[in-house]
Amino acid sequence: MGLIIDLRNQHLVVKVVLAIFHGGNDMFREIVGFRQDELGDWVAELSCLHAQYVRHRPPFQIRPWVLDDDERNSRVGTLLSCSLCDRCQLPEGVVLDSVVGPWNRSTLPKGLLSAHKVPAGKWGVLKVKRGSVQFDIQVAPPMHLQLSEGDSQAIPPEILHNVNPGSDAELEIEFWTR
Ligand SMILES: [Zn+2]
Repeated sequence: MGLIIDLRNQHLVVKVVLAIFHGGNDMFREIVGFRQDELGDWVAELSCLHAQYVRHRPPFQIRPWVLDDDERNSRVGTLLSCSLCDRCQLPEGVVLDSVVGPWNRSTLPKGLLSAHKVPAGKWGVLKVKRGSVQFDIQVAPPMHLQLSEGDSQAIPPEILHNVNPGSDAELEIEFWTR
């Protein structure tokens, strides 16, 4: 058991060192489970609701651990870098849970103007109904977007972001989950 914990830590340290080496703070997400696709390739399911292939295909992809039930299960709870979160890409298979708003600059809850997060297990989608909205989010690299009427912007769970509506703006926020 001690050995397993050590290996996990080592794995995490390598990931963090790699992230620093690449000069970014890539988004790391917890593995919540594994499944196989129709071809038998293994897919890690992540806490952000994204899924990521973890294939063992030597010599290009070396992950012999994924073929072993015990070793694979021991990776549940460890972290994987999720580039789909860094790109703010809404996961497949999510369903609309609730909608808040519409708000304009004066009715927007003040907490949304400063840095805040969508809760774990949910995605936000900012919808600009009218005018323009400045949107900033701390993905890697950080995004600073000027959104206009008709634009939609997906917001990953647990990532600091803030919105700044223009004086003519109206917006609402959808929450999506699985
Ligand atoms: Zn993700």
